[in-house]
Amino acid sequence: MDISTTANPHPVDDARLAEILASPGFGIHFTDHMVTIEWTPERGWHDARVTPYGPLTLDPATAVLHYAQETFEGMKAYRHPDGSVHLFRPEENGKRMIRSSQRLALPKLPVEDFVAAVEALVKVDERWVPDNADGGGEKSLYLRPFMFASEAFLGVRPAQHVTFMVIASPAGAYFKGGVKPVTLWLTEDYTRAGRGGMGAAKTGGNYASSLVAQQEATTHGCDQVVFLDAQDGTYVEELGGMNMYYVFDDGRIVTPATGTILEGITRASIIELAGKLGHQVEERRFSIDEWREGVSSGAITEIFACGTAAVVTPVGSLKWAGGEVPAPASTELTMRIRQALVDVQFGRADDTFGWMHPVG
Ligand SMILES: *Cc1c(COP(=O)(O)O)cnc(C)c1O
Repeated sequence: MDISTTANPHPVDDARLAEILASPGFGIHFTDHMVTIEWTPERGWHDARVTPYGPLTLDPATAVLHYAQETFEGMKAYRHPDGSVHLFRPEENGKRMIRSSQRLALPKLPVEDFVAAVEALVKVDERWVPDNADGGGEKSLYLRPFMFASEAFLGVRPAQHVTFMVIASPAGAYFKGGVKPVTLWLTEDYTRAGRGGMGAAKTGGNYASSLVAQQEATTHGCDQVVFLDAQDGTYVEELGGMNMYYVFDDGRIVTPATGTILEGITRASIIELAGKLGHQVEERRFSIDEWREGVSSGAITEIFACGTAAVVTPVGSLKWAGGEVPAPASTELTMRIRQALVDVQFGRADDTFGWMHPVG
């Protein structure tokens, strides 16, 4: 796949860029360029290009605006102490986008083209990848590949014109002033995914349906919402955008597997990492009763959530309409796993798993 490049004639100047990278926030500032690739049934993927970042002009009948035929990915580029820039397991994001796109009846973008598109953007906007020379921070360049039905047509069928894009946004440390446990709200009114639904796909619709439950969590003073399975309302699925882990006093760790969760790349990496640290990892259904009883008996010593944005975050108390489970006793293993992952990502530890993918 050839990717043409049209350089931005008005890139953000160095002084302004330094200001942005000093305090990037999340998803607020965007780099100088973006990648676009088009798809039609006749031509397949074509017209791959890097162009100046800017607004899209869309016909009001563009299918994604009506029927939400869309998939996306989330990943980061990390600057290592020697100045080199690396992606974390980008092929896994490419493979997951194929799985998501199959569920949404979108075309498959080959993994090598997905990775090439992400790399092209990171290379052209390399100066936007923050360093952490100011000491131990976790700044990175967040990358957002996405694919959508760009055909202007109101009939309900898979779009015959699809657009894939990559945009990038510098991201600050998720936790300012130190890692702090998130409090969770257990929603009993809403679910995120049912059998045969889109739960395992990374698609905007899952996020749209989670927002009202997140509002409920906020109203009750909680940071995030926990979803249970749609069939029985018994088994823990995940948070709106993070997977869950439970640590037991005998060293076992359990992560829910239900067929309707979004299988995170962070989650998968922790399965390998925890295995190497000598922990037995169980992927299985995990009921809300096991949570309640495990914390109150002391059998569950730690709970954490994981995803690209926060990496690993300890979980504190769980609240629902009728009660509360307090925070588990410890965050020891949680913080150890977090540090091990972050150290590999930021090039401060040996990459024994071969997870890092150098760019350029
Ligand atoms: C992206 C996402 C995750 C986390 O996946 P990572 O690959 O670890 O970032 C978890 N749950 C949902 C619903 C997601 O969309």
